[in-house]
Amino acid sequence: MPQTINIIGAGVIGASLAFHLGRAGANVTVFEAAKPAAAASGNSFGWINASFYASPAHHRLRAAAIAAHHRLTTLLPDPAPNWQGCLWFEDDAALDQMAADLAALDYPVEPLTQAQIAAAEPQLANPPARALRFPSEGATDAAALTRALLAASGARVLAGLAVKTLINTAGQITGLRSPIGPFLADHTILAAGTGTPALLAPLGLHLPMLTRPGLILHTDPVPWRLHHILATPRHEIRQDPTGRLIAPAATNHQADSAETVPDPQAATAATLTQLRTLFADPQITLQSSAIGYRPVPGNGLPVVGQVLPGLSVAVMHSGVTLAPLIGEALAAEIAGQGEAPLLADFRPARLLTAL
Ligand SMILES: Cc1cc2nc3c(=O)[nH]c(=O)nc-3n(C[C@H](O)[C@H](O)[C@H](O)COP(=O)(O)OP(=O)(O)OC[C@H]3O[C@@H](n4cnc5c(N)ncnc54)[C@H](O)[C@@H]3O)c2cc1C
Repeated sequence: MPQTINIIGAGVIGASLAFHLGRAGANVTVFEAAKPAAAASGNSFGWINASFYASPAHHRLRAAAIAAHHRLTTLLPDPAPNWQGCLWFEDDAALDQMAADLAALDYPVEPLTQAQIAAAEPQLANPPARALRFPSEGATDAAALTRALLAASGARVLAGLAVKTLINTAGQITGLRSPIGPFLADHTILAAGTGTPALLAPLGLHLPMLTRPGLILHTDPVPWRLHHILATPRHEIRQDPTGRLIAPAATNHQADSAETVPDPQAATAATLTQLRTLFADPQITLQSSAIGYRPVPGNGLPVVGQVLPGLSVAVMHSGVTLAPLIGEALAAEIAGQGEAPLLADFRPARLLTAL
């Protein structure tokens, strides 16, 4: 294991890496331009799932990440995810195809009838004719998880410190330059989300990223309980322990391809109206709405692993789902325990080009 590690970025990915590297005995410093969970991790929906995937390898990675969340809970009990499961509504043909595809991947899927949906979610005004239940899925508060991982990591966290450049010594990254001076390290990890390409560019490396803003709203607490994460044709919705409903404004937000949110106020108002209709509760009121920028690499898939001697990268969408697994696997690789087969399809070489 390298003795000293610099991690750039205190989102859920940097925090998970700090936690696992700290456990392995490394001396870790985390550099954060703003404060922990200031960016995507503070504006996430927090759904932990493998029902959304781009390829069988991507599904396997996400399914393994669900198991990694359970392992993490044994080490860090608070905040534990809520494994309430997800109800997925879709038109009939798409639902059957999805169920068949996921069953072929050995993913737990339960078809539900209208009566079963009504019993499972009594607050729904018009339960659909059919749905799929994914019983292994859950949700977590990504900001709380980030803070808890950092607190338990033993790492030094330097917040309000934007890293300017990396120190390149004849092709080996030997540290970084910050506004308060250089910090040398045996290994540096870029977990800077959408800020990652700007740190690679001075090394002559181009990491293409998609621009994927997401509007997410929180309601005031409602006096009834939602028992699952709902993925409806219009919205994904979940409830936090205080009773608030959380909903991204875009349909199927994980596949959302919009590059802008043209009218956030109108999107917030429309989402609120749809929630009131969906649950037949005109009393639902808005607490807050915010835009977060999802860190989505150009091919839509995670980018994880060594880039140069002394430098690794970990940037991805669905980072809340993936964080415990990425933390475990990349920390083990940096400690010299061999390459993780699960990461084979997500290596930087697949996407990085010379500038
Ligand atoms: C609206 C929305 C909904 C989402 N829903 C889900 C979901 O349901 N399930 C799921 O799994 N994922 C979801 N995601 C994605 C998930 O939140 C992200 O993939 C995850 O938070 C990424 O974590 P990260 O640590 O890589 O990045 P971030 O949380 O963005 O953290 C990167 C950090 O790096 C810092 N940084 C950048 N540059 C520098 C620099 N030069 N120096 C120092 N610090 C720097 C930033 O300030 C930031 O704090 C959602 C995201 C959004 C926005």
